[in-house]
Amino acid sequence: MKMTDATTAADAGREPVTVLSGIGPALARALEKLGVACVQDLWFHLPLRYEDRTRITPIRELIGGQPAQVEGEVEAVDSGFGYRAQLKVAIGDDSASTLTLRFFHFRKAQADQLRVGTRLRCYGDVRMGARGVEMIHPQYQRVAVGAPLDARLTPVYPTTEGLGQKRLRSVIEKALERLPDDDVLELIPASLREGLGLGSLREALLTVHRPPPEADLSALARGMHPAQQRLAFEELLTQHLSLQRLRAQVRSRRAPALQGCGTLRRRLLDTLPFALTGAQQRVDAEVLADLAQAKPMLRLVQGDVGSGKTVVAALAALAAVECGWQAALMAPTELLAEQHLANLSAWLEPLGVEVAWLAGKVQGKARKQALDAVAGGTPVVVGTHALMQEGVVFDRLGLVIIDEQHRFGVHQRLALRDKGAEGEQVPHQLVLTATPIPRTLAMSAYADLDVSSIDELPPGRTPVQTVAIAGSRRGEVIERLRAACGEGRQAYWVCTIIEESEQLVAQAAEVVHAELSAALPGLRVELVHGRMKAREKLAVMQAFKRGEVAVLVATTVIEVGVDVPNASLMVIENAERLGLAQLHQLRGRVGRGSVASSCVLLYHTPLSALARERLQVMRETSDGFRIAEKDLELRGPGEVLGTRQTGRLEFRVADLARDAHLLPAVQRVGAAMLQEHPQRAERLVRRWIGAAARYADA
Ligand code: ADP
Ligand code: MG
Repeated sequence: MKMTDATTAADAGREPVTVLSGIGPALARALEKLGVACVQDLWFHLPLRYEDRTRITPIRELIGGQPAQVEGEVEAVDSGFGYRAQLKVAIGDDSASTLTLRFFHFRKAQADQLRVGTRLRCYGDVRMGARGVEMIHPQYQRVAVGAPLDARLTPVYPTTEGLGQKRLRSVIEKALERLPDDDVLELIPASLREGLGLGSLREALLTVHRPPPEADLSALARGMHPAQQRLAFEELLTQHLSLQRLRAQVRSRRAPALQGCGTLRRRLLDTLPFALTGAQQRVDAEVLADLAQAKPMLRLVQGDVGSGKTVVAALAALAAVECGWQAALMAPTELLAEQHLANLSAWLEPLGVEVAWLAGKVQGKARKQALDAVAGGTPVVVGTHALMQEGVVFDRLGLVIIDEQHRFGVHQRLALRDKGAEGEQVPHQLVLTATPIPRTLAMSAYADLDVSSIDELPPGRTPVQTVAIAGSRRGEVIERLRAACGEGRQAYWVCTIIEESEQLVAQAAEVVHAELSAALPGLRVELVHGRMKAREKLAVMQAFKRGEVAVLVATTVIEVGVDVPNASLMVIENAERLGLAQLHQLRGRVGRGSVASSCVLLYHTPLSALARERLQVMRETSDGFRIAEKDLELRGPGEVLGTRQTGRLEFRVADLARDAHLLPAVQRVGAAMLQEHPQRAERLVRRWIGAAARYADA
């Protein structure tokens, strides 16, 4: 059906799904769970993958690990209803081979239908079992000889409970009948599409929903088919536009112009035992220029571990304090927040600038005192998530600093900002991250932030020597530890475990602590893990920092921020279980002083290909950016940015790692659309975001 003349271009596809025949309230509700409310949402509800039921593969030619469709007659049925019931159906075809279908869950009626001689057509993943080829829980139907095959690839859609693929496919088919011509459908102006090699949108949608049998299946599987790339471009453009819009919304508010006299800042710089690196100076200047504006700053400072982000944050805080405003610094863990507290107190209190402390563990009278101080205008406040809780009221919050951005979501960032909101006025925001984000990703994922990079380490650091050693040589590693500590060096021994249970990791660490204590008589070995009380952890860390502890057995709680320059050896147990970003973070704890440091990655065999590659990367480079690029390549963007961020990165067709080549054009077209075609930009966002608020809304 073509569009009626009465439908205006802007309305195309915006009618509710219930206009389609056969969609009642129940189905409409199921669709709503998928973020589908109007006809257009169905056009843009894209397949996750495809199944090829256009042909039959002879059983003899089946390849393990690949999906296939086969057809044959049941030769034998074996259904045991006893302990571990299992239905096994053997089918054979003209290629004179046998395939076993296995079902672990089945109904008796189902078993009864499968008699010897029944002709079945099955679709499933092929496995090479111990006794020949098999399929576990294949889809199957009884067919007559010569039953027609599908004419095209079968799309498989994201769906929800109670809504089967068949039903969803037929609904989408109905919606596609209403797909208008390109002149109505297309929202990216032709002038901007020119030269980008982008095909027609209508064509692209029809191709991905109904790929013709001759379509390049492997390109489709990889998302590299021109039709998918056309859609990926549009989706990336939409994400870009929506982040830009978010940014524009925030920027349209006001912020206090923090242009101080510079006295406090100068005094801090004078008392520091080091001079700022060139990179620190540059980033500090960028931050200072932002703060002086009456518009809210939205700046991400990325810098490798040890690049000296804290002092840049302290200088920014002083700029606020000089103007009579408060600055709040929030860190994701208590340990890290405590370390910031120690640093900032040591730097700022001699200048007469008070620092208040607020964490979850601060309770009772101490909490009341802290809250009073914050409300009374204590210039600098350091803490954890507790800073965002109800009941925390600032006097005049002018600057919010958030460390380790990837652990906080956009919403948390905004929640703290809103603590300082007064009418149209909001505080400035500075976000620090030690996870270098590959440039391509940063452009897209942080389009709402300006990015500064501290791309230089303070002088005098010696690179960390990294080796990977098999767990069977653990004894040698302990010997090496003994020798190093004998020379007055200090070491970390980091324990990890597969299960994400703090309790189990703590137990494992306790075992290692006992083992090392016994193996290293005369050396003080201490333990720190996440289940200890904050006070106990702090006491151990302080003793380690003072050099009284030789070996610190730790769980990954030391991952972020701990700074002990004399610690020059790190052993990471089960290193094969950790991701690159985490390994890099951990390793950043050593190599902070001037002595040569080393890192031992203790691994257990057998190593997966992925783990092997990760260990190799760690041995080859200590460049955080290269590691981040590699991480992106190995894991994909969702994980690189942390799960909390993925809400913003849930794409239907696009894949940031795969489609990064599209981003420069996306940015160009995006800028032009916002300038020249703001209404179309708006409609594009609405189209892709659909009824579901998939994207963070601020
Ligand atoms: P990160 O960027 O990982 O947060 P920190 O701010 O903790 O790094 O800095 C790491 C260490 O380097 C700290 O001991 C800090 O005092 C020191 N530092 C920071 N800047 C410089 C500099 N310009 N020269 C020498 N040491 C510095
Ligand atoms: Mg830090």
